[in-house]
Amino acid sequence: MTDNTIRIGNVEITAVLDAGASAPCQALFPTITLDQWEPHKEHLGENGKTLTISISSYLIRSAGKTIIVDTGIGNKDRPFFPAGRLPDALREAGAPPESIDIVANTHMHLDHVGWHTTKQGDAYVPTFPNAKHLFNKGEYEYFTQPDIAQQNPQIIDCVLPLKDAADIELTSDEYKLTDEVTVIQTPGHTPHHQSFVIRSGGEAGILWGDVCHHPAQVTELWSPMFDLNPEQARETREKVLQKIEDENLRLIAGHFPYPGFGDIVRVDGKRYWRGL
Ligand SMILES: [Zn+2]
Repeated sequence: MTDNTIRIGNVEITAVLDAGASAPCQALFPTITLDQWEPHKEHLGENGKTLTISISSYLIRSAGKTIIVDTGIGNKDRPFFPAGRLPDALREAGAPPESIDIVANTHMHLDHVGWHTTKQGDAYVPTFPNAKHLFNKGEYEYFTQPDIAQQNPQIIDCVLPLKDAADIELTSDEYKLTDEVTVIQTPGHTPHHQSFVIRSGGEAGILWGDVCHHPAQVTELWSPMFDLNPEQARETREKVLQKIEDENLRLIAGHFPYPGFGDIVRVDGKRYWRGL
C-alpha cells in the first residue's frame, strides 16, 4: 500500500490529487488578520501570508464497489485554478475512469464536480461512462435552479450535460452507498453539503469535504469567504469536530495538505489537526 492509501477496516481509501492552488490568506479569509494567522504559520507559505489548498478526490473501495467522492476542478479553464489531472491520477492509482461504479460528491461547488464531465471540443461528455452519479436531492434542486445555475458555471458544463448522457440518482440526506459508507448532512458551506462516514471492522472515519479548507480552522473555526451560510457552517464545524473526538474518527480532508489523512488532537485544551 502506498502513502496515499489508508484502510478503515475492510475499506480502502486512496487520495487522488487533481490540482492545487495558492492564494493570499486574506483573499480566502478576509476577516482574519495576519496576527491571527501567526500561531498557524507552520501551515502557511514561507512568507507567512499565503496558503495552499489541495484539491483531492478520494477513491473508496467498499463491498465490491469502486467509488469516487468529489471530482476536482476538471479541464474547463476556470479563472484562478490550473486544469486538473484526475483521470491520469486515477489511472496511476489502478482505477481508470471506466472502472468507477459510483461518482458521489460532498457538494456541488466547482472544485468538487469538475471532472463529472470532460470537455471534448465544444461538447461535455461524462468522464465516468459506466458510473451511477449520485447527487443529494436538496443540493441538486438548489444548484440547478436557473438563476443559481447561471452564477455557477460548473452546473452548466459539469452537471446538466449528464442529464441525458449518464445514470443519475438523487439521494436522501442519510443515503447508504454500501453497508460501510453512509452520508451525513453537514450544511452551511452549501445548503446540503454532506460528509461520508465510513465504518468497518470496528474502525471509523469521516470524509468531510469543505467543513474546513485549512488546518487552522480546526482550532479557530473560522469561515472562509466561500461558506454560503457562515454561521451555520461554523456550527457544523464545531459539531463535526466534536463527533470526530467522541467517536474517534480518522479524518479525510481533501483541501488539507495532500493526501489529507489525519487526526484531531488536543494540546492545552485546543484542537489541532495532525497529518498522518
Ligand atoms: Zn472545495
